[in-house]
Amino acid sequence: MARKFVRALFPGSFDPITNGHLDVINRGMKLFDELIIAVGRSPVKNQLFTPKERVEMIAELVVDMPGVSVESFDGLTVEYAAKKKANVILRGLRSLTDVQYEFQLAMTNRAVTGIETVFVMTSEQYGFTSSTLIRQVATLGGNLSKLIPENVRNRLQQRLKKRES
Ligand code: ADP
Repeated sequence: MARKFVRALFPGSFDPITNGHLDVINRGMKLFDELIIAVGRSPVKNQLFTPKERVEMIAELVVDMPGVSVESFDGLTVEYAAKKKANVILRGLRSLTDVQYEFQLAMTNRAVTGIETVFVMTSEQYGFTSSTLIRQVATLGGNLSKLIPENVRNRLQQRLKKRES
């Protein structure tokens, strides 16, 4: 029997995208035929980049990845997944603390629409990386070269310079 075509949606705030997210994207790429990275436009706490800027940074990073695309969306993730005809939601796990929240979210999404969520575990070196932490460390001038891609690092520097001036 032919294998079913699987299109996955990887939703998140991505403010900004980190090497941890990229790790999940690279793993997801191998599992699915298509992967849509969906940047939520709903306001996030202490937003640093606009949804447009977040999409631009991700687009620069996935330009050579076959089957991977990025867009932004409003409203409920499950509704957007249905609109894009995605069969699966992809999420990343860092630790047991993530599991509790993600479990609840996945159960709710499945109860509402029947969509399955697939989890991948990040590489150990990104187990402590979060966008919130990146924003904090960047504000304090810390070295983030191992945790975020170069294009994000450059944009962060520009953004923080602007804030100072
Ligand atoms: P959200 O606000 O929806 O949690 P995020 O952008 O913070 O959006 O995260 C999107 C997804 O990526 C979530 O499933 C989150 O658990 C996962 N994620 C975030 N950082 C990492 C990381 N370092 N390693 C693996 N997965 C991660």
